[in-house]
Amino acid sequence: MLEGRKLTVRYDGFTALDGVSVTLAQGMVTGLIGPNGAGKSTLFSVLAGSVVPSAGTVVFGGEDITSRPPVQRARLGLGRSFQLSRDLVGLTVLENLLVAQPQRRLEGVGAALFRRQAVREQEARMAELARALLLRVDLWRLADQPSAALSGGQKKLLDLCRVLMLEPRFILLDEPSAGVNPTRVGEITEFIRSLAADGISFGLVEHNLGMVAALSDRVYALAEGRVVAEGSFADVTANDDVARAYLGVGA
Ligand code: ADP
Ligand code: MG
Repeated sequence: MLEGRKLTVRYDGFTALDGVSVTLAQGMVTGLIGPNGAGKSTLFSVLAGSVVPSAGTVVFGGEDITSRPPVQRARLGLGRSFQLSRDLVGLTVLENLLVAQPQRRLEGVGAALFRRQAVREQEARMAELARALLLRVDLWRLADQPSAALSGGQKKLLDLCRVLMLEPRFILLDEPSAGVNPTRVGEITEFIRSLAADGISFGLVEHNLGMVAALSDRVYALAEGRVVAEGSFADVTANDDVARAYLGVGA
């Protein structure tokens, strides 16, 4: 459903991705592991559209989206989170979600009056969605608090809710457990699992291998800009090349 074909990314002569091909299937959680600097975030950036590859193709739902900007990909249902959660400083928890509203164009709609009504209906619908999401992650009780006051884990949940405001069918998550107290990682794992059960597909970059094992239907291991293994979590983590990549032994 989301496919990267022979993706290459160079930064000033340094090759961050070197002909990487991945298939992230619909209805699945696809894990992506590998040591720091392997190119995982770069791969997500290429799939989400914020980095343009020097070579290769991104296909989503059968359509070549390589030259589409992130906003258009989001409209097609492809969302992403970032390694560092970006709560919007100065806004409340609820406001953080309401500013994430998609700018849906009302094409072909005639009268300005009808347009205003449609906008009001859209706003009401988004407010309802925000409330439902915050209730689901137990942040509704903090809706009017500044988001800066949230814990690391709560910020990650808020971050994920912000992505969900765009009602994506596919989400790329970059290190959802980073900065989260280890005792709270389970809550994030459970939230992702329940979203996957709702039918949302995921790509998951994660250093917490317990989380990868718990969630992933399929795993890719990246090292030095290349795919070194793919398969089940057990297969990939048993792979000698993967062990070498993590230990930084040999080449
Ligand atoms: P990972 O997420 O697996 O840790 P990244 O995709 O962030 O790896 O980075 C892969 C490599 O590309 C690293 O060596 C990193 O330093 C380099 N890199 C990433 N982004 C940039 C950039 N904007 N400019 C130059 N080099 C970059
Ligand atoms: Mg990264």
